[in-house]
Amino acid sequence: MRRTVFQEDHEAFRETIRAFIEAEVVPVYDEWYAAGQAPRDFYYKLGELGIFGIEVPEEYGGAGEESFKYQAVIYEECARAGVSFGGSGVHVALCLPYLKAYATEEQKKRWLPDFVSGQTMYAIAMTEPGTGSDLAGMKTTAKLSEDGSHYLLNGAKTFITGGVHADRVIVCARTAAPTAEDRRHGISLLVVDTKSEGYAVGRKLDKLGLKTSDTAELSFTDVKVPVEDLLGEEHKGFSYLGQNLPQERLGIAFGAYSQAAAAVRFAQQYVEDRTVFGKTVASFQNTKFELAGCQAEVDAAQAVADRALEALDAGELSPAEAASAKLFCTEVAHRVIDKCLQLHGGYGYMNEYPIARLYADNRVNRIYGGTSEVMKMIIAKNMGL
Ligand SMILES: Cc1cc2nc3c(=O)[nH]c(=O)nc-3n(C[C@H](O)[C@H](O)[C@H](O)COP(=O)(O)OP(=O)(O)OC[C@H]3O[C@@H](n4cnc5c(N)ncnc54)[C@H](O)[C@@H]3O)c2cc1C
Repeated sequence: MRRTVFQEDHEAFRETIRAFIEAEVVPVYDEWYAAGQAPRDFYYKLGELGIFGIEVPEEYGGAGEESFKYQAVIYEECARAGVSFGGSGVHVALCLPYLKAYATEEQKKRWLPDFVSGQTMYAIAMTEPGTGSDLAGMKTTAKLSEDGSHYLLNGAKTFITGGVHADRVIVCARTAAPTAEDRRHGISLLVVDTKSEGYAVGRKLDKLGLKTSDTAELSFTDVKVPVEDLLGEEHKGFSYLGQNLPQERLGIAFGAYSQAAAAVRFAQQYVEDRTVFGKTVASFQNTKFELAGCQAEVDAAQAVADRALEALDAGELSPAEAASAKLFCTEVAHRVIDKCLQLHGGYGYMNEYPIARLYADNRVNRIYGGTSEVMKMIIAKNMGL
């Protein structure tokens, strides 16, 4: 079937990204992996390459594209090469939509040029030690000062991608208590400068996979956040999260499908080379059937991911559709990558083989951005159940 989601410009961009990955990422990826994060300098390189500015309007130094398809190309190319761009996906795919949609003109002028160059890296902090799926239960507070000049931020966040390197973090905090009718009321978004007094980065967390992305704990003790750094309207943060989560979930769906497609390629190459009992592993009917089944699942996931990507670009991707795409693609990737690892035998368990890293990296796709169970709740609610 002809794939129609990408046009000439995207394919030209793909060539640039592929060459960049070969030159700048593949040769040093093992070092990043061992260090547990991509170096800060790498993000300046991504800024120079223009990756961060693709969807930023031209007046703030970007390319003014509205399409998420360029990010999707990056997901495919990183998966194909068995690498990642560290924690920078959050900067551009998660944080930018909030800044574009809710920042005032003054804030955009202040923040976006350095966003584009990578001088200021962003992260987003929703999850807390005591609450993840149930975000309305968050306890971090931001109390407006009596003179109305600043908020006093107190609380803790965990699992924050990019949390070590971030220069500014979009922190979700309670600016008012929930009401009896609406638990979601009273949450606001503050764009916090990580150099502020009382702001602390805790442990860089040791993860099963995604070794090159810095995931950290954060804590806030009487952090003074100027009112000028409130994003959007006070108390409306929860509805902003609801509006932006579909793009985050589509990004995860697309990344998962791309990883599944890469796993099939890695497995095919491996089984064609590996000889067992005097034959290539590829010659066993079981291998052919396993890989054929995986390819069929990848084809289906690609169709879902592509369709959701088109819908996102058209401004039509509903929360339930995004949840459905995430659920489907991440569950497919889970099954496919496991089977492809199995075909590698013991070598599949060794981190020097890309399939092992893919296996570990992919596991979180069914957890972050909302778990598979939460996706099912959203889909079921949309079905009227
Ligand atoms: C590597 C990594 C990076 C992350 N990056 C970020 C980030 O940058 N920013 C950020 O804010 N967060 C981030 N997260 C947090 C992530 O979004 C949460 O881990 C996720 O939403 C789940 O929340 P939780 O871990 O508190 O699990 P819990 O909410 O405690 O869930 C535990 C289990 O209960 C299930 N469950 C929950 N509610 C229900 C229900 N109603 N019915 C049935 N089952 C239910 C869940 O599906 C899960 O299986 C990251 C997490 C990881 C692992």
